[in-house]
Amino acid sequence: MNPDTRLEFPIDEVPKNGTMYSINDEIHWVRMPLPMSLNHINLWLIGSKNDATLVDTGMFLDDVKSAWTDLISKEKINIKKLIVTHMHPDHIGLAGWFVKKFNVPLCMSRTDYLQCKVLAADTGEYVPHEAINFYKQAGLSESQIKNYIERFGFFGSIIHKLPDAYNRIKDGDVILIDDDEWECIEGRGHTMEHICLLSRAKKILISGDQILPKITSHVGVFPTEPNANPLEDWLESCKKLIEVVPRDVLVLPAHGRPFLGAHKRLNTIIKHHEESLDKLEEFLSEPKRSVDVFSVLFRREIDDSNRLMATGESIAHLNCLIERGLVKKNITDETAYYERV
Ligand SMILES: [Zn+2]
Ligand SMILES: [Zn+2]
Repeated sequence: MNPDTRLEFPIDEVPKNGTMYSINDEIHWVRMPLPMSLNHINLWLIGSKNDATLVDTGMFLDDVKSAWTDLISKEKINIKKLIVTHMHPDHIGLAGWFVKKFNVPLCMSRTDYLQCKVLAADTGEYVPHEAINFYKQAGLSESQIKNYIERFGFFGSIIHKLPDAYNRIKDGDVILIDDDEWECIEGRGHTMEHICLLSRAKKILISGDQILPKITSHVGVFPTEPNANPLEDWLESCKKLIEVVPRDVLVLPAHGRPFLGAHKRLNTIIKHHEESLDKLEEFLSEPKRSVDVFSVLFRREIDDSNRLMATGESIAHLNCLIERGLVKKNITDETAYYERV
Protein backbone atom coordinates (compact mmCIF):
# COMPACT_ATOMS: atom_id res chain seq x y z
CA MET A 1 0.00 0.00 0.00
CA ASN A 2 1.15 3.53 -0.72
CA PRO A 3 2.56 4.87 2.61
CA ASP A 4 0.65 8.13 2.09
CA THR A 5 -2.65 6.34 2.50
CA ARG A 6 -1.67 4.28 5.55
CA LEU A 7 -3.82 4.78 8.64
CA GLU A 8 -2.75 4.44 12.25
CA PHE A 9 -4.67 2.24 14.65
CA PRO A 10 -3.54 3.51 18.08
CA ILE A 11 -5.75 1.28 20.25
CA ASP A 12 -4.52 -2.30 20.51
CA GLU A 13 -7.47 -3.58 22.48
CA VAL A 14 -10.58 -4.69 20.56
CA PRO A 15 -13.65 -5.68 22.62
CA LYS A 16 -15.20 -9.03 21.73
CA ASN A 17 -18.82 -9.05 20.58
CA GLY A 18 -21.11 -8.40 23.54
CA THR A 19 -18.41 -6.70 25.64
CA MET A 20 -17.20 -3.19 26.40
CA TYR A 21 -13.75 -1.61 26.45
CA SER A 22 -13.26 1.82 28.05
CA ILE A 23 -10.92 3.91 25.90
CA ASN A 24 -10.91 6.37 28.83
CA ASP A 25 -13.36 7.42 31.58
CA GLU A 26 -15.59 9.16 29.07
CA ILE A 27 -15.54 7.01 25.94
CA HIS A 28 -16.61 3.38 26.15
CA TRP A 29 -16.50 1.09 23.12
CA VAL A 30 -19.18 -1.62 22.91
CA ARG A 31 -19.18 -4.29 20.20
CA MET A 32 -22.27 -6.24 19.17
CA PRO A 33 -22.59 -9.09 16.68
CA LEU A 34 -24.06 -8.82 13.18
CA PRO A 35 -25.30 -11.93 11.32
CA MET A 36 -23.39 -11.17 8.09
CA SER A 37 -19.88 -11.32 6.67
CA LEU A 38 -19.45 -7.93 8.35
CA ASN A 39 -19.82 -9.58 11.75
CA HIS A 40 -19.82 -6.69 14.23
CA ILE A 41 -20.85 -3.11 14.89
CA ASN A 42 -19.17 -0.62 17.24
CA LEU A 43 -21.43 1.38 19.56
CA TRP A 44 -20.25 4.22 21.77
CA LEU A 45 -21.13 5.26 25.30
CA ILE A 46 -20.10 8.85 26.00
CA GLY A 47 -19.67 10.08 29.57
CA SER A 48 -19.72 8.00 32.74
CA LYS A 49 -21.16 4.57 31.94
CA ASN A 50 -23.65 5.04 34.79
CA ASP A 51 -24.99 8.17 33.16
CA ALA A 52 -24.15 7.80 29.50
CA THR A 53 -25.20 8.96 26.07
CA LEU A 54 -25.39 5.97 23.73
CA VAL A 55 -24.55 6.37 20.05
CA ASP A 56 -26.16 3.63 17.89
CA THR A 57 -27.73 0.43 19.19
CA GLY A 58 -27.12 -2.79 17.24
CA MET A 59 -29.67 -4.87 15.36
CA PHE A 60 -33.04 -5.98 16.75
CA LEU A 61 -32.07 -9.63 17.18
CA ASP A 62 -32.47 -11.87 20.23
CA ASP A 63 -28.74 -12.46 20.70
CA VAL A 64 -27.97 -8.72 20.53
CA LYS A 65 -30.76 -7.89 22.96
CA SER A 66 -29.60 -10.49 25.45
CA ALA A 67 -25.95 -9.40 25.06
CA TRP A 68 -27.04 -5.84 25.85
CA THR A 69 -29.13 -7.01 28.82
CA ASP A 70 -26.12 -8.87 30.27
CA LEU A 71 -23.73 -5.99 29.60
CA ILE A 72 -26.05 -3.39 31.14
CA SER A 73 -26.30 -5.36 34.38
CA LYS A 74 -22.62 -6.38 34.49
CA GLU A 75 -21.27 -2.86 33.84
CA LYS A 76 -24.12 -1.05 35.66
CA ILE A 77 -24.83 0.99 32.55
CA ASN A 78 -27.46 3.69 32.69
CA ILE A 79 -28.46 5.61 29.58
CA LYS A 80 -29.78 9.16 29.67
CA LYS A 81 -29.75 9.95 25.96
CA LEU A 82 -29.78 7.98 22.72
CA ILE A 83 -28.33 9.27 19.46
CA VAL A 84 -28.58 7.31 16.22
CA THR A 85 -26.21 8.20 13.36
CA HIS A 86 -28.50 6.85 10.61
CA MET A 87 -31.43 4.60 9.84
CA HIS A 88 -29.75 1.29 8.96
CA PRO A 89 -30.90 -1.66 11.09
CA ASP A 90 -27.48 -2.32 12.64
CA HIS A 91 -27.50 1.26 13.96
CA ILE A 92 -31.16 1.89 14.80
CA GLY A 93 -32.45 -1.68 15.33
CA LEU A 94 -32.77 -1.53 19.11
CA ALA A 95 -33.58 2.19 19.40
CA GLY A 96 -37.23 1.56 20.29
CA TRP A 97 -36.13 -0.97 22.92
CA PHE A 98 -33.68 1.48 24.55
CA VAL A 99 -36.23 4.29 24.52
CA LYS A 100 -38.64 2.08 26.47
CA LYS A 101 -36.08 0.52 28.77
CA PHE A 102 -34.46 3.78 29.89
CA ASN A 103 -37.30 6.18 29.16
CA VAL A 104 -35.02 8.38 27.06
CA PRO A 105 -35.64 10.33 23.87
CA LEU A 106 -34.31 9.19 20.51
CA CYS A 107 -32.21 11.85 18.76
CA MET A 108 -31.57 11.52 15.03
CA SER A 109 -31.93 13.33 11.73
CA ARG A 110 -35.42 14.03 10.41
CA THR A 111 -34.95 12.47 6.97
CA ASP A 112 -33.54 9.23 8.34
CA TYR A 113 -36.25 8.97 11.01
CA LEU A 114 -39.00 9.36 8.41
CA GLN A 115 -37.28 7.13 5.84
CA CYS A 116 -36.89 4.41 8.46
CA LYS A 117 -40.59 4.56 9.32
CA VAL A 118 -41.53 4.26 5.64
CA LEU A 119 -39.22 1.28 5.03
CA ALA A 120 -40.28 -0.52 8.22
CA ALA A 121 -43.92 -0.19 7.10
CA ASP A 122 -43.15 -2.40 4.05
CA THR A 123 -42.96 -5.49 6.25
CA GLY A 124 -45.93 -7.73 5.51
CA GLU A 125 -46.99 -5.60 2.53
CA TYR A 126 -47.16 -6.50 -1.16
CA VAL A 127 -44.16 -5.80 -3.40
CA PRO A 128 -44.80 -2.67 -5.49
CA HIS A 129 -44.61 -3.19 -9.26
CA GLU A 130 -42.21 -0.20 -9.43
CA ALA A 131 -39.72 -2.23 -7.40
CA ILE A 132 -40.09 -5.30 -9.61
CA ASN A 133 -39.68 -3.16 -12.76
CA PHE A 134 -36.60 -1.51 -11.26
CA TYR A 135 -34.80 -4.85 -10.83
CA LYS A 136 -36.12 -6.16 -14.17
CA GLN A 137 -34.68 -3.11 -15.91
CA ALA A 138 -31.38 -3.69 -14.12
CA GLY A 139 -31.19 -7.16 -15.67
CA LEU A 140 -32.02 -9.48 -12.78
CA SER A 141 -33.32 -12.91 -13.86
CA GLU A 142 -36.81 -14.25 -13.05
CA SER A 143 -35.47 -16.41 -10.22
CA GLN A 144 -33.43 -13.53 -8.78
CA ILE A 145 -36.54 -11.34 -8.76
CA LYS A 146 -38.50 -14.16 -7.09
CA ASN A 147 -35.79 -14.25 -4.44
CA TYR A 148 -36.20 -10.47 -3.94
CA ILE A 149 -39.99 -10.82 -3.61
CA GLU A 150 -39.56 -13.54 -0.98
CA ARG A 151 -37.26 -11.34 1.10
CA PHE A 152 -39.26 -8.13 0.70
CA GLY A 153 -39.99 -6.48 4.06
CA PHE A 154 -36.95 -7.98 5.80
CA PHE A 155 -35.81 -4.47 6.84
CA GLY A 156 -38.72 -4.02 9.27
CA SER A 157 -38.12 -7.42 10.86
CA ILE A 158 -34.70 -6.43 12.22
CA ILE A 159 -35.89 -3.13 13.68
CA HIS A 160 -37.78 -2.83 16.95
CA LYS A 161 -40.86 -0.67 16.48
CA LEU A 162 -39.60 2.91 16.39
CA PRO A 163 -40.88 5.42 18.93
CA ASP A 164 -43.64 7.62 17.51
CA ALA A 165 -41.78 10.81 18.42
CA TYR A 166 -38.12 11.74 18.29
CA ASN A 167 -35.82 14.74 18.78
CA ARG A 168 -34.42 16.13 15.58
CA ILE A 169 -30.68 16.73 15.24
CA LYS A 170 -29.23 18.37 12.13
CA ASP A 171 -26.06 19.64 10.53
CA GLY A 172 -24.44 22.38 12.62
CA ASP A 173 -26.24 21.53 15.87
CA VAL A 174 -24.10 21.38 18.99
CA ILE A 175 -25.07 18.75 21.55
CA LEU A 176 -23.85 19.15 25.12
CA ILE A 177 -22.81 15.92 26.76
CA ASP A 178 -21.51 16.47 30.30
CA ASP A 179 -20.46 20.04 29.38
CA ASP A 180 -18.57 18.89 26.30
CA GLU A 181 -19.66 20.21 22.93
CA TRP A 182 -20.31 17.69 20.17
CA GLU A 183 -20.98 19.09 16.70
CA CYS A 184 -23.39 17.33 14.36
CA ILE A 185 -22.08 16.97 10.82
CA GLU A 186 -24.39 15.75 8.08
CA GLY A 187 -23.21 13.33 5.42
CA ARG A 188 -25.26 12.22 2.41
CA GLY A 189 -25.06 9.31 0.00
CA HIS A 190 -24.90 6.37 2.42
CA THR A 191 -28.27 7.42 3.77
CA MET A 192 -30.00 10.71 3.05
CA GLU A 193 -29.04 12.47 6.29
CA HIS A 194 -26.36 10.64 8.22
CA ILE A 195 -25.03 12.42 11.32
CA CYS A 196 -21.41 12.26 12.56
CA LEU A 197 -20.45 13.69 15.96
CA LEU A 198 -17.30 15.76 16.39
CA SER A 199 -15.70 16.87 19.64
CA ARG A 200 -12.99 19.40 18.80
CA ALA A 201 -11.85 19.52 22.44
CA LYS A 202 -11.43 15.76 22.67
CA LYS A 203 -10.25 15.46 19.05
CA ILE A 204 -12.73 12.65 18.46
CA LEU A 205 -15.07 11.98 15.54
CA ILE A 206 -17.81 9.38 15.94
CA SER A 207 -18.19 8.65 12.25
CA GLY A 208 -20.98 6.04 12.00
CA ASP A 209 -20.74 4.59 8.48
CA GLN A 210 -19.66 7.91 6.95
CA ILE A 211 -15.94 7.11 7.31
CA LEU A 212 -14.86 3.49 7.73
CA PRO A 213 -11.20 2.46 7.85
CA LYS A 214 -11.21 -0.68 5.67
CA ILE A 215 -14.45 -1.25 3.80
CA THR A 216 -16.20 1.25 1.54
CA SER A 217 -19.68 2.19 2.75
CA HIS A 218 -22.64 1.15 0.65
CA VAL A 219 -23.77 3.91 -1.72
CA GLY A 220 -26.72 2.62 -3.69
CA VAL A 221 -29.87 3.48 -5.61
CA PHE A 222 -33.18 1.95 -4.48
CA PRO A 223 -36.47 1.37 -6.35
CA THR A 224 -38.25 4.26 -4.58
CA GLU A 225 -36.00 6.82 -6.32
CA PRO A 226 -34.55 5.13 -9.42
CA ASN A 227 -32.89 8.27 -10.81
CA ALA A 228 -31.21 9.32 -7.56
CA ASN A 229 -27.54 10.26 -7.67
CA PRO A 230 -26.28 9.33 -4.20
CA LEU A 231 -22.70 8.87 -5.38
CA GLU A 232 -22.27 12.58 -6.18
CA ASP A 233 -23.81 13.35 -2.76
CA TRP A 234 -21.34 10.94 -1.19
CA LEU A 235 -18.32 12.46 -2.97
CA GLU A 236 -19.42 15.97 -1.99
CA SER A 237 -19.85 14.83 1.62
CA CYS A 238 -16.35 13.32 1.67
CA LYS A 239 -14.96 16.64 0.42
CA LYS A 240 -16.98 18.57 2.99
CA LEU A 241 -15.71 16.34 5.81
CA ILE A 242 -12.12 17.06 4.77
CA GLU A 243 -12.93 20.77 5.17
CA VAL A 244 -14.81 20.51 8.46
CA VAL A 245 -13.08 17.74 10.39
CA PRO A 246 -9.60 18.41 11.81
CA ARG A 247 -6.86 16.22 10.36
CA ASP A 248 -5.74 14.80 13.71
CA VAL A 249 -9.03 13.47 15.15
CA LEU A 250 -9.30 9.92 16.41
CA VAL A 251 -12.07 8.42 14.26
CA LEU A 252 -14.43 6.03 16.05
CA PRO A 253 -16.09 4.16 13.16
CA ALA A 254 -19.13 1.87 13.33
CA HIS A 255 -17.20 -1.00 11.73
CA GLY A 256 -13.49 -1.75 12.09
CA ARG A 257 -11.05 -0.20 14.57
CA PRO A 258 -10.56 3.40 15.78
CA PHE A 259 -7.98 5.13 13.60
CA LEU A 260 -6.00 8.28 12.88
CA GLY A 261 -5.89 9.60 9.34
CA ALA A 262 -9.41 10.86 8.57
CA HIS A 263 -8.28 13.04 5.66
CA LYS A 264 -6.14 10.28 4.14
CA ARG A 265 -9.06 7.88 4.32
CA LEU A 266 -11.51 10.37 2.80
CA ASN A 267 -9.09 11.10 -0.04
CA THR A 268 -8.65 7.36 -0.65
CA ILE A 269 -12.43 6.90 -0.80
CA ILE A 270 -12.86 9.79 -3.26
CA LYS A 271 -10.05 8.44 -5.44
CA HIS A 272 -11.50 4.92 -5.33
CA HIS A 273 -14.91 6.07 -6.61
CA GLU A 274 -13.49 8.42 -9.25
CA GLU A 275 -11.32 5.57 -10.57
CA SER A 276 -14.35 3.27 -10.61
CA LEU A 277 -16.31 5.89 -12.56
CA ASP A 278 -13.46 6.22 -15.10
CA LYS A 279 -13.20 2.44 -15.55
CA LEU A 280 -16.95 2.15 -15.88
CA GLU A 281 -17.16 4.89 -18.51
CA GLU A 282 -14.39 3.13 -20.43
CA PHE A 283 -16.27 -0.18 -20.21
CA LEU A 284 -19.46 1.31 -21.67
CA SER A 285 -18.21 1.57 -25.23
CA GLU A 286 -20.92 -1.04 -25.92
CA PRO A 287 -24.41 -0.96 -24.31
CA LYS A 288 -24.44 -2.85 -20.99
CA ARG A 289 -27.02 -3.61 -18.31
CA SER A 290 -26.45 -2.79 -14.62
CA VAL A 291 -25.75 -6.45 -13.86
CA ASP A 292 -23.08 -6.56 -16.60
CA VAL A 293 -20.84 -4.01 -14.87
CA PHE A 294 -20.29 -5.87 -11.57
CA SER A 295 -16.87 -7.11 -12.68
CA VAL A 296 -15.70 -3.52 -13.25
CA LEU A 297 -16.82 -2.29 -9.83
CA PHE A 298 -16.42 -5.21 -7.44
CA ARG A 299 -13.58 -7.54 -6.66
CA ARG A 300 -15.80 -9.69 -4.44
CA GLU A 301 -17.96 -12.44 -5.90
CA ILE A 302 -21.61 -11.46 -6.43
CA ASP A 303 -24.15 -14.06 -5.32
CA ASP A 304 -27.68 -14.17 -3.89
CA SER A 305 -26.50 -12.65 -0.60
CA ASN A 306 -25.18 -9.40 -2.10
CA ARG A 307 -26.73 -9.11 -5.59
CA LEU A 308 -29.29 -6.42 -4.65
CA MET A 309 -26.62 -4.31 -2.92
CA ALA A 310 -24.32 -4.70 -5.93
CA THR A 311 -27.13 -3.75 -8.32
CA GLY A 312 -27.91 -0.62 -6.31
CA GLU A 313 -24.24 0.36 -6.19
CA SER A 314 -23.82 -0.23 -9.92
CA ILE A 315 -26.83 1.98 -10.66
CA ALA A 316 -25.39 4.65 -8.33
CA HIS A 317 -22.22 4.75 -10.45
CA LEU A 318 -24.20 4.67 -13.72
CA ASN A 319 -26.56 7.47 -12.60
CA CYS A 320 -23.56 9.56 -11.57
CA LEU A 321 -22.07 9.17 -15.07
CA ILE A 322 -25.44 10.10 -16.61
CA GLU A 323 -25.67 13.24 -14.44
CA ARG A 324 -22.13 14.17 -15.48
CA GLY A 325 -23.25 13.90 -19.11
CA LEU A 326 -20.90 11.03 -19.91
CA VAL A 327 -23.32 8.12 -20.31
CA LYS A 328 -26.83 7.67 -21.64
CA LYS A 329 -29.51 5.13 -20.77
CA ASN A 330 -31.90 3.44 -23.19
CA ILE A 331 -34.71 1.12 -22.23
CA THR A 332 -35.37 -1.75 -24.65
CA ASP A 333 -37.69 -4.67 -23.87
CA GLU A 334 -38.05 -3.56 -20.22
CA THR A 335 -34.27 -3.62 -19.78
CA ALA A 336 -32.05 -0.56 -19.25
CA TYR A 337 -28.86 -0.35 -21.32
CA TYR A 338 -26.12 2.14 -20.59
CA GLU A 339 -23.62 3.44 -23.13
CA ARG A 340 -20.96 6.13 -23.34
CA VAL A 341 -22.17 9.25 -25.15
ZN1 LIG B 1 -25.18 2.19 7.28
ZN1 LIG C 1 -23.31 0.17 9.62
